[in-house]
Amino acid sequence: MNIIIFGPNGSGKGTQSELIKASFDLTHIESGDIFRGHIKGGTKLGIEAKSYIDAGELVPDEITIPMVLETLSDVTSSGWLLDGFPRNVSQAESLLRSLSESNTSLDYIIEIKLERGIAKNRIMGRRLCAKVPNHPNNLFIDAIKPISGKCRVCGSELKVRADDQDEAAINKRHDIYYDVSAGTLAGAKYFIENSSAKHINVDGTQTIEEIKQSLLTQLHR
Ligand SMILES: [Zn+2]
Repeated sequence: MNIIIFGPNGSGKGTQSELIKASFDLTHIESGDIFRGHIKGGTKLGIEAKSYIDAGELVPDEITIPMVLETLSDVTSSGWLLDGFPRNVSQAESLLRSLSESNTSLDYIIEIKLERGIAKNRIMGRRLCAKVPNHPNNLFIDAIKPISGKCRVCGSELKVRADDQDEAAINKRHDIYYDVSAGTLAGAKYFIENSSAKHINVDGTQTIEEIKQSLLTQLHR
């Protein structure tokens, strides 16, 4: 079973990807891992990509697309879950064409929908329990709101992660994601309209458990 998942930062895409991966024994391929894997492995594509990254430039699609395809074709589990790619329309076009040329089936396109303002709040509202890192706390999610400023599970102090408070970086990522003319949402639309894969729409305002259940009832081998 091969799946592509779309969702903005803050939508819980990473969490859901882990849950889907575990439920269906899929290889979770996150866009950043693809570059890191090829660069570490010293592949021809990795060496080319590194020269762009070192120069502070975007790696062109002519290198990125074959790298993604190679990574997908190396998967030995019962399928893959592609996360964080394509990021724009041109990548979507190239990837869809390449999947079809290589006779690679795509079964599902998952899209977690969440309004931009809510997604941003959810990132900036994350709080980490000082004692148990996986105690979930978030100022903007009612189900896991801290209690009197302390961890809702164990009462410990809460911390923030610096990345989560970097508003400029969050805005930059969301600018790319929510751009409906050339960005990720445009790429998702292109994929949905031009691929025969089943499209699963998920309301990102639901709880992690609700989203998981909704996905599990809609995904079939
Ligand atoms: Zn705690």
